[in-house]
Parts: sequence; C-alpha cells; structure tokens
Amino acid sequence: MSANASRMQAIQQISNRKPVAIEKTDFLGEIWAEDVFNLARMEWALSKTAFKAIKNTVHTGEPLDAATADVVAAAMKEWAVAKGAKFFSHIFYPMTNITAEKHDGFIITNSDGAAITEFTGSLLIKGEPDGSSFPNGSLRMTNAARGYTAWDPTSPAYIMQTDNGATLMIPSVFMSWTGEALDKKIPLLRSNRAMNKSAQEVLSLMGETEIATLNSSCGAEQEYFLVDTHFANSRPDLLLAGRTLFGAAPAKGQEFDDHYFGAIPARVQVFMQDFEDQLYKLGIPAKTHHNEVAPGQFEIAPYFESANVAADHQQLMMTLMKSTAKKHGFMCLLHEKPFAGVNGSGKHVNWSVGNATQGNLLDPGSTPHENLLFLLFCGAVIRGVHLYGPLLRAVIASASNDHRLGANEAPPAILSVYLGDQLEKVFTDIKDGKITETAKGGEMDLGLSQILNFERDPGDRNRTSPFAFTGNRFEFRAVGSSQSVSGPLVAMNTMLADSLSWIAGKLEVEFGNGASKAEAVVTVLQELMNEHGNVVFGGDGYSAEWHEAAVKERGLKNIPTTADALPALREESVIKLFESTGVLSPVELESRFNVYAEQYVLSIEVEAKLVIDMAKTLIYPAAIEYLSTLSKTSADLSAMGVKLDNTTATTVAEHANAMMAAVAKLSAALAQHDFETTEEHMQFCANTLRSLMDEVRSHADVLETEVADELWSLPKYQEMLFIK
Ligand code: ADP
Ligand code: MG
Repeated sequence: MSANASRMQAIQQISNRKPVAIEKTDFLGEIWAEDVFNLARMEWALSKTAFKAIKNTVHTGEPLDAATADVVAAAMKEWAVAKGAKFFSHIFYPMTNITAEKHDGFIITNSDGAAITEFTGSLLIKGEPDGSSFPNGSLRMTNAARGYTAWDPTSPAYIMQTDNGATLMIPSVFMSWTGEALDKKIPLLRSNRAMNKSAQEVLSLMGETEIATLNSSCGAEQEYFLVDTHFANSRPDLLLAGRTLFGAAPAKGQEFDDHYFGAIPARVQVFMQDFEDQLYKLGIPAKTHHNEVAPGQFEIAPYFESANVAADHQQLMMTLMKSTAKKHGFMCLLHEKPFAGVNGSGKHVNWSVGNATQGNLLDPGSTPHENLLFLLFCGAVIRGVHLYGPLLRAVIASASNDHRLGANEAPPAILSVYLGDQLEKVFTDIKDGKITETAKGGEMDLGLSQILNFERDPGDRNRTSPFAFTGNRFEFRAVGSSQSVSGPLVAMNTMLADSLSWIAGKLEVEFGNGASKAEAVVTVLQELMNEHGNVVFGGDGYSAEWHEAAVKERGLKNIPTTADALPALREESVIKLFESTGVLSPVELESRFNVYAEQYVLSIEVEAKLVIDMAKTLIYPAAIEYLSTLSKTSADLSAMGVKLDNTTATTVAEHANAMMAAVAKLSAALAQHDFETTEEHMQFCANTLRSLMDEVRSHADVLETEVADELWSLPKYQEMLFIK
C-alpha cells in the first residue's frame, strides 16, 4: 500500500499487532459499580439518620448539614482506603470541555511521627485548587485569583484506578471566592432547579397534588474515530489539533456504506470490552456500541441517567476512551471532523424531564390527562427552541464543530424542531383551531392515546433534524462529539423553565376565566403555536430548499460559524433569560462569552501555525525532492537525446509555489493583532484565517496525489481509515 519506508514500517507493525490481552472480568452483577460510593454503599455504611439525610440531598438537591457531612466523609474514607486509595481529589468541570483535578493525600502524621489518615466533612465539602490557571473570562480579575471546589453530593464519588494507583474522586463544583460559577456544573444544577420550579407551577395549576422534585435526564450517544498510533504518531496535526489539516481523499471512501453495522474489527472489539468493563465498575451503564457510517468510526451510548450524573459520566467516559484506546494501540479522536470529506462525529444528547410521581413529562402517556401535560411540556420545548434557537446554536459552537454543522450528513446550522407526522398534525390542528369542542363529561383526548405507539416506532425518524422528538424525549443532534453535554443541557433546561413559567401565567388567566383544563391547554397552545409554530419542520433538513425557506419564509436563523453564534450570549433576551431563571448572572454569562471566544480564536490560531509548519517542513521538501529527481532525470535523458514529458514537473512546481504563496499570506495574517473587538477577531479567524488555511491545503492535497509515494512521509487517508 505504501512505498514510503516509514509508512511501510508502520503498516507492517500494525499487521503484526495482536489484540491486547485483557483481564477476564467477573459477570456484570459482580463488577457493576464496584468502584462507586453510591447510595447502596452508604446505606450499608451509615446510620439510619445519616443515610436518610444524604438520600434526601441526593434526590432533592437540598443542602446537607455539617454533622452528616462528617459522618459521610468518614465512611467514604474508610471505603476508599480499604480499596487501596491513598489520595483523594475534587474533580471539577472548568469552562473547557475537559476536567480538572488536584490530588491530596489522606495522610497526616501525629506527634509521634506515625502516619494516620484524615478526612473530615470539611475536607470533603471544600477544596482549594489553584484556580488561576483555569479560564475565567476575566471574572476573577477583581478578586484574588483563587477559586474553590465544593462537593456535589448528588453525583456519587468513585475510585479512579490508574497505573499510578487508586484515587478517591469527588465530583465538585468550582466557583470564585465571591461565589460566581467558574464551571459547567453549577449552571447545570441551577438550570434543573429553575426547570423544577416552573414545572411545579404548571403541574399544580393542572391539578396535580403529589409532585416530587423534577429532574432532567440525559442519554448521550458518542461517536468517535480510532486510528492506529503507528500512523497517528507521525501526523503532527492529529497529535496537536486532533484532526488532519492535510490529506487527499482516498480512492475508496464511505461511498459503499459497508462499514455501518458491519463486523467490528477484532482489536476494536477488545478495546470496547476493556473500556466497557471499566465503565461498569464505575457505575456507567454502557448500553450499545456499533460501527458508524465512516470507516474507522464507532459509537457508544450509555443508558440515560439524571442529567447531572450523566454529564459527569460523559466527561469520565471521554477521559477513559482516550486512555484505554492508547493501551490498545489506538488514538481515539473525539474531534467533530477529523477527516475532510468523511462523515464527522456528533454527540446526540437525548433529553427529557420528569419525576417519580408524574413520570416522564415528555411521554404522551395513556390517559387524556397525561396527554394534556405532555402537550404542555412539548409546547414549552417548541417555544423554547423558537425563542432561543440562537442560544442553542451558541452552546454547541466551537471551532471544531463548525467543520461538521451544515456539512454533508450532519445537522444544519439552523435550529428547527421535528415532531413526527402525527404529533405535528396535533399541534397544527390546535394552531388552526380545529380542536375546539369539549369532549362530553370531561377532558378531551386530542387523539394522542392512539398515536403514541406509532410515534415510538424508531423507524419513523427524521435524521436530518438538529432537534427531534423521538417518542418520549427530544434528541439534540447538533452537539459536537468533543463537547461537554452540560452546555446543551443548561440551555434546554433553562429555555424550558422560561416557557413553562410563561405557560403557567397563561393558564392562570384561562382558569380565572372559568376554562376547563382542556380548554385552557388548547387556548394557550394555540397562542403558542401562532407565535412559535414556525420552528416546527418535518422535511429534509439537509436540502438546499430548506436552507432558503427557513430563513426567508420562516424567519429562522442560519448561523454557520462560531464567530456568528457566540454573540448570542450577549443578546438582551438571553441575558434576561439566564438572569430571570437564576441560572447565570449577567457577569457569569459575559465571562462565558469571553472564555469561549478566546478558545475559538486560540484553536484556529494553533491550527494555522501548524498548517504553516507542516507545509514548510514536510510537504514542500517532499515536493522539492521529487522535482529534483524529475529535473535530474529529465536532464540526463535529454543528454541521451530522449525527451521526458514535463507535465508532472510543471504541476508539482506550480502547486508548490502556490502553496508557499498561501503560506506567506497566512503567516502575515497570523501576525495581525489589532482588533477593536472580540467579535471582530473571531470573524477574522472564521473568514480570513480559515480560508487561507483551506487554500494552503488545496495545493498540498494536489501535491499528495502527484509526488512519488516513496517521498510522502505523512500517513495517507486510506491507511489511517482502513488499516486496523
Ligand atoms: P438511536 O441511535 O436510535 O437514537 P440509541 O439507543 O443509540 O438510539 O440511543 C438513545 C439514547 O437515548 C440512549 O442513551 C437512551 O438511554 C436515551 N434515552 C432513552 N429514553 C430516554 C429518556 N426518556 N430521556 C433521556 N434519554 C433517553
Ligand atoms: Mg440517536
């Protein structure tokens, strides 16, 4: 497959690879959550009163008293030490997509110099990492550059086993000394609280009496690529940017669609098994895995859990995926578009809200009353996506996801809602005033009891929608594979809180006027659909017609890049939304804008530098060497009276020159730093830098197909994608 010595060696090494032998684990019931300090373990270890208190906190999110915290800390330490842990760490979720941790020993010495262990309630509750190295969007400029972490008792502590030993990990929030959120967990917890508050209002207006705390749920489907490390290690772009910045399309791509649901390669199977066993020990319910559409692409989806726990588990999964892949000789790519022209990776965030007493409010249910509640919650989502579409686009904005959104086989950058034919008809009928008569002797059914079976059929799915109802939940499909699910969950919970509180206000008026429940619901939803029904779309979201109609006829926004998307965080309506729901103060929101904008600019600048570097030091030299061979041969032949056709030499020379000219322009552009505003700087990255990078690449990719294979040291697409 390759004439280049280093690439050939890599291929040989890969063909000699055997699947890594992994420890045979016990059956699921044995290993499940064995490394988690969960409620079952606490019930066993704690007194009845202490357990009751912590259980209440876990279920309702209410604070825990100091005395109980001490008791929990002691039990937690004893359990962790018995499992071999010498250290503990608050793990937190800064405003990047990765996690951070600082490890502390349990050890202290007593006056005799003997080592004893100590772990009090206050150590459990509060930690103090050096916050100054985490992005804060200038939030803490005015304060001391410090932040602190605080235990989140609603997400269970666990033991992280690594080659360096075992560490007790304590999921935590991260905030400034003045109490501002510096992380992704605080807003998620607050958004749940806001959603619960508004949902309670609606439910009690609708006559519900026993209403348990509502929580949101999340099940995230994670797509990823695996590339053998023998290849990945010779690609500086994969190592530093997580994606290929160069690479000609392979002769065989994904046209044949033969990878999807095909047999999983043996080494990948062993990787998956190893990875999933670790997840089970950590109490993460890995449920499905399969090949994805592109060659070398796979998916894993755990069973859904409460949003806060799911978000922590999702982060842990991403960390473990990378480390486990390494062990099996792969590099795991979570980037949204590692290979141009090949399907990208997303993270479908399945989301619903509910509680123990009313159940899942996004499930149509089987009685007319349940149908009414369902329609209200569903309507609330429709209103939310319409009003806050740009916010939903902003929370999934990143330099890497920009490559995927709106591209082939990926959700468009226009936010619309897919409901399915029958549910869409119910909402359209309500809008058109076709459902007006009150059913005899009580509430009307609105026809939902009949459709719910059909709606649940997964065959009836529109895969082109960025935001789809899928039977008992909504699926946000535009989320990127490398992203934390917290941002999307915060946005969805918060827009729902806002809509439900709007609905509560309207219902109150209707009930005041003596309307029945069904009449009130229909009236409110009719108004809602008149104002927001435009966002409901059941057609082909990939089509060019939709891209035009969405904007021109429906008034929706097409927001192609992060530079266009992030400013939504500064819009008055969004600032108000977060402030009124208590999810983020204006200062906290502004700091998020700053952090995300900075990350966007930085990641494009890093890539641009890498493009320049690789073009100059890897690609240009290969082209020149080839030219030198050609010219020497041509001269030698000419001396013999033989004329060599010089088309190839001309093509190579032209593209090598054009590439270097583009490199020069890119270098000059990179040196530019006089921007008036952050917005302007982002636009410069989105337009000028990105298009110059593309220009360099276009010539380099031609060179790859012209220059002798022997001289090309960068592993090619077909090798990285197909050789496992
Ligand atoms: P598909 O690929 O057909 O969309 P998957 O089975 O791969 O479906 O993934 C669906 C995800 O949705 C899983 O994580 C699943 O646990 C989750 N899910 C199912 N029901 C709910 C719900 N009510 N709320 C949130 N997530 C859910
Ligand atoms: Mg899905």
